[in-house]
Amino acid sequence: MSSETPNHPQVHDVLIIGAGVAGCGVAQAFAKQGRRILVVERSLKEPDRIVGELLQPGGMDALARLGLSECVQDIGATPVEGYHLYWKGEEEATFWFCPPSDSAPSGSRSCGADEAETPSGRSFHHGKFVGKLRRRIAREENITLVEATALEILREARTGAVIGAKCSTGRDGDTINYLAHLTILADGSGSNFRSQFTACRPQAQSRFWGLELLDADLPFHNYAYGVIGSGPPMLMYQISPRETRILIDIPNTVYAEIGGSRGVPAYIRDRVAASVPDSVKPSLRDAVDRGRLRSMPNAWVPSTQNRTPGLVVLGDAANMRHPLTGGGMTVALKDAILLSRLLDPAEIPSLEDSGAVLRRMSTFHWRRKMHAASLNILAQALYLLFVTEGNPRLQIMQTGFVRYIQAGKENFAEPVAIMGGIVENPLRLFYQFVRIAVYSVQIHLRQAGLLGFPRALAQSFLVFVRAVGIILPSILAELKA
Ligand SMILES: Cc1cc2nc3c(=O)[nH]c(=O)nc-3n(C[C@H](O)[C@H](O)[C@H](O)COP(=O)(O)OP(=O)(O)OC[C@H]3O[C@@H](n4cnc5c(N)ncnc54)[C@H](O)[C@@H]3O)c2cc1C
Repeated sequence: MSSETPNHPQVHDVLIIGAGVAGCGVAQAFAKQGRRILVVERSLKEPDRIVGELLQPGGMDALARLGLSECVQDIGATPVEGYHLYWKGEEEATFWFCPPSDSAPSGSRSCGADEAETPSGRSFHHGKFVGKLRRRIAREENITLVEATALEILREARTGAVIGAKCSTGRDGDTINYLAHLTILADGSGSNFRSQFTACRPQAQSRFWGLELLDADLPFHNYAYGVIGSGPPMLMYQISPRETRILIDIPNTVYAEIGGSRGVPAYIRDRVAASVPDSVKPSLRDAVDRGRLRSMPNAWVPSTQNRTPGLVVLGDAANMRHPLTGGGMTVALKDAILLSRLLDPAEIPSLEDSGAVLRRMSTFHWRRKMHAASLNILAQALYLLFVTEGNPRLQIMQTGFVRYIQAGKENFAEPVAIMGGIVENPLRLFYQFVRIAVYSVQIHLRQAGLLGFPRALAQSFLVFVRAVGIILPSILAELKA
């Protein structure tokens, strides 16, 4: 084993483990403050994954605040102005981040005075985006990016404080100890070290199965698509001029019933293909035949407050939500900005002062709720709402949700702004959730007529109980320290 410089090991201000979206974002945020950063990444090859391909408008804004906007340029990214929802193969609903204004010229958006202010997301190849982030941060004078795998988190024997990481450089089994005043663990959803610092374990009820559709004939440009109500929930968005990602949610119970991974292609052909728009069916069948099916668990990990001196856990290593609403990268980038602000050198000149850093961790834990809790709760709640599995109460709410969105921008503007990471306020999410529950019940009672009214009233009560059951566990998880 060797150390960086055996007699005088260099101690960095910050050591970041993992150069994904969270690691690159936080490296850039700290570098802008003049801190000296070392980032270790186990593979600097362009990632080839089915995750992190749609960046919400709130994430785009965070990227701009970090000075990283160029990373979504020249990667074949597609603007995402809103969502188009297919429901039960019969009905559709469109909702925009920036709804068309009645007074604006036809088709134009009312939100920003000019196009640059109009909120929109981007969808792209995850690997191309991360590749650009890495090249961009490596250009910063005070960031060093090295290819190395963290093997062990180093701790001071007496205090237990984290002082860096033992890493393998992959050359002849060489290892090196990288030391830092603050170590940021940003090693992603499969973090090898998370369990040393938090009792929360990832829980996943389903996996997303991903395919790349070639030259799919999408009905509209610049939208992400959701397919719900008839079979598994699905997402589609363009990731390059010719490729469209489709993600199909297969619950673990269904996966077992269809005989595991060997049953997935047939399941998609027989069960899923029927629900996608007709124009997309040929490219879906082609993609299944080409056979490059990949999957990822849709895990949930509630965040916990960091209490280990010398360490911060960030990104998916710290907190995950169902990826249905595409919020993970937005949360990671906003966390990076907030963390660097709370540890601003003007207030904490040296990160060696681990007591001062730890005190800031409590503020970080609670203040990040504004942007993270809204996206976390929304993702979990929408997922439960979209997988009704024949549950009549959930079906009443799903109908209510679709009708609510269809009723126009007065209704959909705020929910979509929360989903886009534009509105950061869990209370507004709660308010919208209650409105949708009430709306669902009103529709149900109206449809029941006079004779069916007493039964519908009893069902409505159960709808409310179910609604509370959907949202309460996520809220309680967010309230834990
Ligand atoms: C199916 C699916 C679809 C998703 N779609 C979206 C979406 O559309 N939009 C969105 O915003 N979010 C989406 N997400 C979530 C999003 O991908 C994550 O929130 C985001 O990638 C988290 O970034 P991260 O940097 O924390 O982790 P990662 O991107 O996983 O980065 C972790 C990095 O750490 C490195 N690493 C790991 N271990 C070590 C080690 N021991 N030493 C050194 N390096 C190491 C890895 O190589 C990797 O580069 C999706 C998630 C899933 C599962």
